Amino acid sequence: MRAAIYPGSFDPITNGHLDIIERAMAVFDHVTVAVLVNTSKSGIFTPEERVDLIRQVVGANPKVSVESFRGLTADFARQKGVKLLIRGLRAVSDFDAELRIALVNRKLSPGLDTVFLMTSAENLFLTSSTVKEIATLGGDTSGLVPPLVSARLKERFSPATAGTREE
Ligand code: ADP
Repeated sequence: MRAAIYPGSFDPITNGHLDIIERAMAVFDHVTVAVLVNTSKSGIFTPEERVDLIRQVVGANPKVSVESFRGLTADFARQKGVKLLIRGLRAVSDFDAELRIALVNRKLSPGLDTVFLMTSAENLFLTSSTVKEIATLGGDTSGLVPPLVSARLKERFSPATAGTREE
């Protein structure tokens, strides 16, 4: 079985991530979307909330599972017995960082390879950081993220609920 892990922060999942997940499903028999728990950085959504959002957006599909993990991606992949990572590439500017990450992962775990899938033209400019910035400034994120995520962002940053976050 060709299984792969798609690691990232997914804070929040965007249409760009979703596009990569869908394309990966066509190539691999199973894809684990792995949400990195970054203890030094608090996000918009907690890792549990991110996992929950991704699960709802992807829907029930035996080809995809969603989990969070702590520590090194290479260790997580080893625990899972998976030898392939998936990453998305948007522009040349992604390449340097992604090459570095891929080589470090291979160094840490020989045989662990990274497969890159190219973004779709409409998602070329789309990053979670852009979505975060728009949402925090009260802008409309629909069309950039799945409708459920857009609604959650609106709730989170609406004047009525702002300041009630537990962080
Ligand atoms: P970010 O969106 O902040 O770069 P992530 O860590 O959540 O962050 O990204 C996980 C992976 O998804 C990375 O390989 C990243 O390049 C890829 N990715 C993110 N946005 C897109 C997009 N719009 N199109 C294609 N790949 C993307």
